[in-house]
Formats: sequence, C-alpha cells, structure tokens
Amino acid sequence: MIFRERLLTGQVALVTGGGTGIGFGVASQLARCGADVVVASRKPEHIEPAAARLREHGVRALPVGVNVREPDSVRAMVEHAAEEFGRIDVLVNNAAGNFYAPSADLSPKGWRAVVETDLYGTFFCSQAVYPIMARQGGGRIIAISMTLHYRGWPQMAHATAAKAGIDALTRTLALEWAPANITVNAIAPGPIPTEGAQRAFATGDTSTAGIDEEMRRLIPLGRWGTPEDIGNMTVYVASPAGAWITGAVFVVDGGSSLART
Ligand code: NAP
Repeated sequence: MIFRERLLTGQVALVTGGGTGIGFGVASQLARCGADVVVASRKPEHIEPAAARLREHGVRALPVGVNVREPDSVRAMVEHAAEEFGRIDVLVNNAAGNFYAPSADLSPKGWRAVVETDLYGTFFCSQAVYPIMARQGGGRIIAISMTLHYRGWPQMAHATAAKAGIDALTRTLALEWAPANITVNAIAPGPIPTEGAQRAFATGDTSTAGIDEEMRRLIPLGRWGTPEDIGNMTVYVASPAGAWITGAVFVVDGGSSLART
C-alpha cells in the first residue's frame, strides 16, 4: 500500500463501471485508503461481487444498478447513494463501452451507444452530483479518458470523439464549478489489458506470438498498465494533495502516447 491508511476515511466515492477492470481497480484503491464506495453499473453480476470484495477492506460498499445513458437512472443512482451514505465526495466517471467499427459502416445505433455511454454519461453523472457536492462545500469529479484521440485511431470514431468531448467538458466544468470548491479532472490511461479492453479490441487472432516485442515497442516503460496504476492516480487527485488541481488531464500511460509507433 503506497498511500497512508485511512487517508480517505470519512469520504464517500461513487465509481461508475466500478465492478470490472479499471473501475474495480479504482474502487479498490479508494477502499484501501478508507473511503466508503458505491459501485454502479448495469449488471448485478458485476457490481454485487465487487461490493463484497470491497467490504473486505473494512469499508462500506454499496452496489447500485444504473444505465449512465439515462438521466433518470443516473438521478436515481445518486439519490440512492446519498440516502445510504449521506454524502458524495468523489465521483469517478469510468463507465464506457467501445468496439472496432469502420466509420463508413458505423450504424447510428452503434455511434449513439458509445457517445451516450462515455460522453453523455459523464455529463449526466457530474450534473447529478453537483448539488450534493455544492451543498457539502466541495467535491472531486474525475473522468477516465484515454490518449488515443491525441492523434487518430482508425475504426474508433465514436470513442475518440467521446473522449475528446470528455477532456473539453473537464476543462469547462472545472471553471464553472470552481466557485463551489468542486474540482474536475481527468485521467488518461494507456493500454491496460482488462477483459473489457480485450473484448473490445478482439480481432479474432488469438496468437500471442510477438506480443511482448510489440508491447516494448509501444510502451517505453516496458510493461502494460494495471488498474491499480489508475487507482493510485485517482487517490492522489481525491486526496488533500489534489486540493489545488482542477481542469487537468493526467496521462498515466508508461510513455506510450509519446512513443513512435
Ligand atoms: P470494462 O471492464 O469493460 O469497463 C467498462 C465498465 O462500464 C463496465 O464495468 C460496465 O459495466 C460499465 N458500463 C458500460 N456501459 C454502461 C452503462 N450504459 N451504464 C453503466 N455502466 C456501464 O473496461 P475497462 O478497460 O476497465 O475500461 C474502463 C475505462 O477505462 C473506460 O472509460 C475506458 O474507456 C478507459 N480506458 C481503458 C483503457 C484500457 O486499455 N483498458 C485505456 C484507456 C482508457 P456493466 O456491463 O455492468 O454495465
């Protein structure tokens, strides 16, 4: 454990998509530091076992069903969390989905599914926690972005457009909500081989030959990222160390977005 135990004791964090992959890594690091955690997503089979594992850290953990694309569902999630724990100090907008699709063939339904989950979901959740955080005297909103829209990423028009929107939203909300002492930041992970990422990027080629060589070419620091790497950055931003940081996008990617491909 690299942070002080009980660093976040007394705080309540809500992590969307907190039952799997990076979201669970984030929720776990927050719980290890003493925060009570709400893990919210669509599938009970993701969030219920996750909440049980988070309780092993000695904190309260609540699974809440939500579809972040639906403002009513998001409002109900936030009300449920606030009723149960009385406050919300940290919101992590992590829920997302994507899949490879050539832009010429991308259906309106496929475009909407990704843009609404990633970008609209981030806005709806941020807007829903705003009055609670403002009433409490402040809070921390953290979006999980990406780095692949800094250049271009063929067949990912929906996800790159949505994440670029999230970065812009982060800067705008940071200015708008600073007077309420609410900081708004984003973390941009590099490649992290979660099950979700492997599913989204599956090409049908299951051969692992050459994968280590490819990884070393793509990631200067010489290893894949882990959900804990993103969890640690989240704890930093949520902790008192993050008090004077707003509107920032933290790249946590082993140098991969700078490397020549
Ligand atoms: P993941 O495990 O598939 O995470 C996605 C999560 O979002 C799931 O827990 C899913 O839970 C939830 N979700 C999807 N649609 C939702 C909806 N409409 N409403 C509520 N929850 C929804 O994949 P991951 O790799 O950990 O990705 C997590 C985040 O990191 C994403 O924002 C992704 O863009 C970002 N990221 C990942 C990488 C990487 O290499 N892995 C790199 C850069 C950025 P349910 O199915 O239960 O709803």
